[in-house]
Amino acid sequence: DAKTHGRNRFAFYSPDMAERAHERMAMEQGLMQAIQQQALRLHYQPVVALESGRMIGMEALVRWQHPELGLVPPARFIPVAEESGLIEPIGEWVLQEACRQTRRWQDEGYPHIRMAVNVSVRQMMNDHLVERVAQALAETGIDPQCLELEITETAIQSIEHSRERLRQLKGLGVMIAIDDFGTGFSSLSLLKHLPIDRIKIDRSFVTGLPSDGNDVAITHAIVALAHSLHLELTAEGIESTDQLNHLHQLGVGEGQGYLFRRPEPADALTELLRGGHRFQAGRQ
Ligand code: C2E
Ligand code: MG
Ligand code: MG
Ligand code: MG
Repeated sequence: DAKTHGRNRFAFYSPDMAERAHERMAMEQGLMQAIQQQALRLHYQPVVALESGRMIGMEALVRWQHPELGLVPPARFIPVAEESGLIEPIGEWVLQEACRQTRRWQDEGYPHIRMAVNVSVRQMMNDHLVERVAQALAETGIDPQCLELEITETAIQSIEHSRERLRQLKGLGVMIAIDDFGTGFSSLSLLKHLPIDRIKIDRSFVTGLPSDGNDVAITHAIVALAHSLHLELTAEGIESTDQLNHLHQLGVGEGQGYLFRRPEPADALTELLRGGHRFQAGRQ
């Protein structure tokens, strides 16, 4: 391989680069197989109403069940999938499977669980997105209001294009959330121009609550903005009771985080639903 052959003899290319290219190709091939052999999995993280501690939604998060590496997190393969175009079949599968799972929970007697699905840059650009969402809804018969599409600021490459795309999606009746809010460059103009329902406060701001002055200031500003624009709010990455209480006091309606639950397979959450589980609620 590059290391043994390349290091001393070929000064004009870096073995690191060759290794990385090789790794990427292996990753791409592995991903392709994973799609064919149905080795992708969805884990779900509960979305909790901070006032009551009730589970009101789930976020679908993809993993790759790798024969040697075990469960591979999305950060390790989504970027490659995005660049290679494999995110298209992956994203479509995620959408279908998340809708099917929503249907299963509805059939179990939980008709109001909202399902959040992450949508990538490429999917946003794809002209078939609206059709595919419509199809997933039709196939599973779930209420469009139960489906929320999460779009990051970076997935919105052109406001004009995204506005039209989101309008079409809103026409289906689904909800739109801006994910990782505040980490992109154009957050405020997005709020002005796009038909969105919800802001998800990025975990990087929640982390420093309630002691880091900057995080407190930014979070307060996001909350004020959302309130005055009548947008729903979800806080990401709540890990402590202090963070939970602070967000609740600010008037943030919903949250996710390891304090409540890590993402996990659907069955474990079905058990929680059956048990009528309530998570810790925020204090005033
Ligand atoms: P995201 O959509 O912002 O999802 C939240 C991530 O934060 C998840 O990581 C979740 O496990 C993690 N998280 C939740 N609560 C906590 C907490 O309290 N502390 C910490 N440290 N982390 C927490 P995950 O599952 O590894 O996903 C990472 C990212 O990969 C997602 O960020 C999303 O951007 C992307 N992703 C995941 N699934 C999909 C998918 O199906 N399609 C696309 N396009 N992207 C996906
Ligand atoms: Mg998300
Ligand atoms: Mg997020
Ligand atoms: Mg995030």
